[in-house]
Amino acid sequence: MMGEIENRTIVVGAGIVGLCCAYHLFRSGFNVTIVDRAISGDRASNGNAGAVAVAEILPLPKPGIIRQLPGFLFSPLGPLSIRLRYLPLLWPYLRHFMVAANMQSFNAGAAAMASLLAPAMDDHEEMLESIGAPTLLRRGGGLFVYKSEKARRSREAEWSLRRELGINAEPIGRSGIEAIEPALGPAASCGYFTDDWAYYGDPKVLCEKLLNYLRGVGVKTIDEKVYGFELTNESYPSRVITENGQLIFDHLVIAAGAWSHKLTKLLGDSFPLETERGYNTTLSKPGVEIKYMTTFAEDHFVMTPMDMGLRIGGAVEFAGLNASPNYARSKALVKLAQNYLPNLRTEDGIEWMGHRPSTPDSLPVIDRSPNHRNIYYAFGHGHLGLTGSATTGRIIANLARNCLLGIDLTPFRINRFN
Ligand SMILES: Cc1cc2nc3c(=O)[nH]c(=O)nc-3n(C[C@H](O)[C@H](O)[C@H](O)COP(=O)(O)OP(=O)(O)OC[C@H]3O[C@@H](n4cnc5c(N)ncnc54)[C@H](O)[C@@H]3O)c2cc1C
Repeated sequence: MMGEIENRTIVVGAGIVGLCCAYHLFRSGFNVTIVDRAISGDRASNGNAGAVAVAEILPLPKPGIIRQLPGFLFSPLGPLSIRLRYLPLLWPYLRHFMVAANMQSFNAGAAAMASLLAPAMDDHEEMLESIGAPTLLRRGGGLFVYKSEKARRSREAEWSLRRELGINAEPIGRSGIEAIEPALGPAASCGYFTDDWAYYGDPKVLCEKLLNYLRGVGVKTIDEKVYGFELTNESYPSRVITENGQLIFDHLVIAAGAWSHKLTKLLGDSFPLETERGYNTTLSKPGVEIKYMTTFAEDHFVMTPMDMGLRIGGAVEFAGLNASPNYARSKALVKLAQNYLPNLRTEDGIEWMGHRPSTPDSLPVIDRSPNHRNIYYAFGHGHLGLTGSATTGRIIANLARNCLLGIDLTPFRINRFN
């Protein structure tokens, strides 16, 4: 049994990744405190599309994407856009992104994500069971649709790679789509159906339930911004400096989403983290009945039939952490959805923007600091932070306990771009 003195553990960040780290650390006997500058604030973890998207293992940088770069600069409402003014600040990330955009890195990245996400569904289910919320996750699979057979064939190699890496997916024709999702009009011509997919009826409810559980079992929460760290004589940083004071720790986890790099730099571990801003609209009365979460592959958006309405979202926008949202992007996605859902009603939508923590190779950072043995990193999950959260939390707790991990963490190192 660990002594109280040795296991004071601070988790910075109350997003889904920080909460899952706190959950697993608590279950492993650590004395956990969560620090967040806005415990009940909005964040990526609250407003996302809700998917546990185990099938979504392919990295964003892939061969051919660099040729499209000029187009991204001049199509502000396209699926991926870069604000021209932001380009110089994006360079440290972009240069590594471009290096990663080759077939070898793409295949290796997909394999690494497949190994990380293989246990994700079980990890979510086990955690939900133990916090008394087993019904939050909707199993049943997910649908990918294409507008034409030609478009689907053009992605056949990617689907083969997914299958080689253990993902279950079956091709589905127009009649199959009509049978399982009759609200989809003829623009949804064919696709794939995968069992390796589930979704939460509301990701915010998951975060709230997890936070309530943690508070209920004695995990402390502190609503303060973390500014820095203080090193002790043994050259271990042992204090977190917050806006109101200092907190002593024996173990520290940085899970501060798209802001994590600001903190890791202070600990001597720089990382080229960026934010991929994403948008959605939630329609409380969509006028259509949808059963499955669906990805519209050519138009790069998804829809999720959530508890509070139909959420339509996606988009990748590189414009940094401080620029104000451009909700024309949310509107553009709803317009695209109307092409597939002829009866969609779009009044009274609630628009939202969130910051995905994005790494140049689409792989998260899950690591122990090379400089400090008692500091761990859990951030950069990009489009898959909800999906990978429970597994990441389990891995971080195992790292802190010096247990066998059952996964090779080499692809997820913090210093892989140094
Ligand atoms: C439109 C959209 C749709 C998405 N859909 C999905 C999906 O369907 N499935 C999926 O798996 N993922 C999805 N994602 C991605 C997912 O939401 C994120 O990867 C995930 O929420 C990141 O969680 P996090 O805990 O790392 O960060 P966050 O949720 O951003 O939490 C980070 C926390 O750190 C705190 N913090 C930061 N700096 C400090 C500091 N200095 N001191 C104290 N606190 C600090 C912040 O206040 C924040 O609460 C989507 C994202 C977007 C934007």
